[in-house]
Amino acid sequence: MIQRFKGPFRIDSITQFLSCPRAFYFNEVKFLPPERINLNWLAARAGHTVISQAHREQNFSADNMFERFLDLFEKQKARVKTETFGAVDFEEYRSMLKGYANMPYNREAVVLALDSEFYFDIRPARTTYFFEGRIEQLLRIETDLLRAEFSDVFESVTKSSIILHRCLKFGQRRHTSSFELAMNVRLDILSLALKNGIFNHPPGSIDHVSRNTPYHWDIIPDFHAVYFLRDHIPYKDDGGRYLRDDNGDFIPCDLVSSPCLVGKKQDPCKGKRIYCTKKSRGPAMFFTARPQARIHAIPRELMPLCAAIRMGHYPRQLGELCLNYCGYRSACESEIRQRA
Ligand code: SF4
Repeated sequence: MIQRFKGPFRIDSITQFLSCPRAFYFNEVKFLPPERINLNWLAARAGHTVISQAHREQNFSADNMFERFLDLFEKQKARVKTETFGAVDFEEYRSMLKGYANMPYNREAVVLALDSEFYFDIRPARTTYFFEGRIEQLLRIETDLLRAEFSDVFESVTKSSIILHRCLKFGQRRHTSSFELAMNVRLDILSLALKNGIFNHPPGSIDHVSRNTPYHWDIIPDFHAVYFLRDHIPYKDDGGRYLRDDNGDFIPCDLVSSPCLVGKKQDPCKGKRIYCTKKSRGPAMFFTARPQARIHAIPRELMPLCAAIRMGHYPRQLGELCLNYCGYRSACESEIRQRA
């Protein structure tokens, strides 16, 4: 008898299905716990929690954030019962948290929602599909603060402040072209949630006191962003001599509004250099939007994916995931061997 997925759709399970339907089957249909846990995944989770705490307490002391991060990571690691793998570079996390804390567009953001859980349903045809999940950050930010760092995106924005929905990433930067961001199924679902979902936090309540008060945001943020904190990690080598004008003076930098910290001593950059790592470093935040017409079309776009999951066909998606990351490799291998 075919075993089918019956639960509500969650973003992580949908992305897991897109990566490998068989891994989705082991996780969401057979409810097998993952055989091993990547420590970097635990570290990213601790990083998320620390950033949320910093916003709640309005305390962006980088040292304090890093100490909390270490404490939380060790507690989470102690609770893990399965095998772990991967090595966490704690100095990278220190830099990422410090980079976050240093940015005025983070420190001065007005938090509308943090880690707020939602549910909603779609009925693109005859079948109703239920979704649940969590919005990480919904913020109001002064446009000038963003324009200072992302002039190309905010040059023509006339509003004095914008509403930004944002997902934080501690992993490697990927899928950041405007096309990939427009296709991002995670942002599709989250934009639908902000428009149609029922949330457990009413506006302004970023603590857990009113966690059970349902609220309908009915909002289309001006922008959605994916924020790669790795872009805040300083390059180990910022080589290159400073360029000088005819009078021997440093030439002002035209890439960033405030000087980057460069070299082994992390001194503020004095101006243009023969080569500048800022050019190859990403801007950290990557923006996209989901206007009303697109939101209207998303349920239809999700329908084939939801229907495929409900049909109970969970083929193997052999690839890199099998060898490096899959938490169900032994179960998968034993299935194959039984049929061989
Ligand atoms: S081992 Fe590979 S094919 Fe099997 S579930 Fe994992 S990712 Fe999918």
